Amino acid sequence: MELVKWLKPYLATCGSLLKARRDEELRKQSEQEVEIARDFYLSILDNAPILIWRSEPNGQCDWFNSAWLQFTGRTLAQEIGEGWIEGIHPSDLDHCYQIYLDAVHARHPFELEYRLRHHDGNYRWIVDYGKPFHNIEGEFAGFIGYCFDITERKETARQIENLAYFDALTGLPNRAFLQGRISQALSISERDGDELALLFIDLDNFKTINDSLGHSVGDRLLCAVAKQLATCVRDMDTVSRLGGDEFVIILPETGAAGASIVAEKIFNALIIPHPVDEHELSVSASIGISLFPHDSWDFESLLKHADTAMYQAKGAGRSSYQLFTQAMKEVAHERHDMENRLRKALAKQEFVLYYQPQVEIVTGRIIGTEALIRWQNPELGMVFPTKFIPVAEDCGLITPIGRWVLEEACRQNKTWQTEGLPPISIAVNLSPTQFIYRQQHIVDMIADVLNITGMEPQYLEVELTESAVMHDPDGAAQILRQLNAMQVKLAIDDFGTGYSSLSYLKRFPITKLKIDRSFVRDLITDPEDRAIVSAIISMGHSLKLKINAEGMETSEQLEFLRREGCDEAQGYYFSEPLPAGELAKFLRRNSQGYVAIIQSP
Ligand code: C2E
Ligand code: MG
Ligand code: MG
Repeated sequence: MELVKWLKPYLATCGSLLKARRDEELRKQSEQEVEIARDFYLSILDNAPILIWRSEPNGQCDWFNSAWLQFTGRTLAQEIGEGWIEGIHPSDLDHCYQIYLDAVHARHPFELEYRLRHHDGNYRWIVDYGKPFHNIEGEFAGFIGYCFDITERKETARQIENLAYFDALTGLPNRAFLQGRISQALSISERDGDELALLFIDLDNFKTINDSLGHSVGDRLLCAVAKQLATCVRDMDTVSRLGGDEFVIILPETGAAGASIVAEKIFNALIIPHPVDEHELSVSASIGISLFPHDSWDFESLLKHADTAMYQAKGAGRSSYQLFTQAMKEVAHERHDMENRLRKALAKQEFVLYYQPQVEIVTGRIIGTEALIRWQNPELGMVFPTKFIPVAEDCGLITPIGRWVLEEACRQNKTWQTEGLPPISIAVNLSPTQFIYRQQHIVDMIADVLNITGMEPQYLEVELTESAVMHDPDGAAQILRQLNAMQVKLAIDDFGTGYSSLSYLKRFPITKLKIDRSFVRDLITDPEDRAIVSAIISMGHSLKLKINAEGMETSEQLEFLRREGCDEAQGYYFSEPLPAGELAKFLRRNSQGYVAIIQSP
């Protein structure tokens, strides 16, 4: 008992000593645990695959994780303080500063999107979530920021927006964008009492380029055209693509005169050849123009009117523009109707060939005939080629129609030969559209038709216009050489109306020039036409070409042509174009292929 009493204070001291020691151990242990925990969490933050930073209460950054440093390619020493700000895109800096300083001041969380420079030199979009953090005492200790790379997401969003408002191929605004832009432009024009012009541009023969050279060439050509159109306008104008080969340009503060100048500029820009693969493609366009407030007050009808005017321009020939007029509406309707009927005409066998004799002037012998297409439509009656061939060229129907003409003409000529009529050659017109972009196809097609019909190639004469061969002289020469090697004869039709020179034509293996009807018509009354015809005959002869005078109607013309040494003639004087049966009769009637020619006095 005594001992216990004696020991009590001692034991008490020991107890408190032991307690103190245990407390100390516990403290150390907990400090260690805190340190372990801190290292643990720090290593998580440091190794996290997202970008993390920490700032002091005053906003100065004092730590960045490894992902951040790897992203920027900079060291911790370079980034801390305000170093990291150098990586922010200059355009995003002001916005970042404002949000960040506000958050530091108010100590509240923030969310920021900005572009941060990647170590590869490009900027990437980052979303940065900043959260305030507190120390053990619960005091505000700064911010921790967690950043995610959202570049892909941004890009997708941009693409979606682009899809909605921009044309994926050329990057130009699309119809939806245009609609918004023009209603804005129209209200401004209305307010200011200004005019506004809308240009509807359609490329000529684009479908043929696409079909013959392939869609990727077509696509690249469209991109080149888009770029060139942009060079023809002011900053305030809008160039857009409606789709296909159709473009629309809006010209605020512009009337008829200004719009016409832009149209001319476009023609000049497009004619410069665009290199696409091994091709040098120059395009022409047809342009329709409508004006606010003259033609209409709203977008849809301005667009429709410009489209109508564009169709008129197409009919008037390549590279031309037209200002809309109310009278055009009716014509546009007719053309549309014709295109629809034309689509069915081949299947319904509504086409027929007429044949016009070609006569050798010296002998009066019928040496050939030209096949000329007619369209017999139950409602429209007999339609002449000058009316429907341009429509067929525009909508691509010229390819099947051209093939039909060639096959029908060769078959008919072979039939006449089999029937015992004196063999004559048959001339077939090739449309420039058929020839220019489908050159190899033309050679194959002709070989195929000759094979199918069994007509010998030397009886076939292909008629091409000057513009068809001059469009791509090298390409044309190559194809014409192939046709020549097959023994097919080649004639230049409507000679004198194009821009080729005789010396240039030397390069092509052609056999005949057909003097255009317009020169023959006024031979007797117009000394200039007489001089031109004489010159063509003598220069043509010096190049060893046969000369045919088209549209010869009178004996006076015949007399002049004979004196000048013209080889052959074709025209109403001998005969109008005749149906096949009539031509056979004509051949028989004219004593086995000779027509009576009035002898010179
Ligand atoms: P082209 O090839 O120059 O054909 C001659 C045109 O002149 C024909 O008109 C013919 O009927 C006309 N003609 C002939 N002699 C006379 C005359 O003495 N006086 C007058 N006033 N005219 C005469 P058509 O048949 O109306 O053909 C017009 C054009 O249509 C042709 O001009 C040709 O460029 C084109 N064409 C005709 N058939 C075809 C075809 O099958 N394919 C293609 N691509 N074009 C064709
Ligand atoms: Mg012809
Ligand atoms: Mg002709």
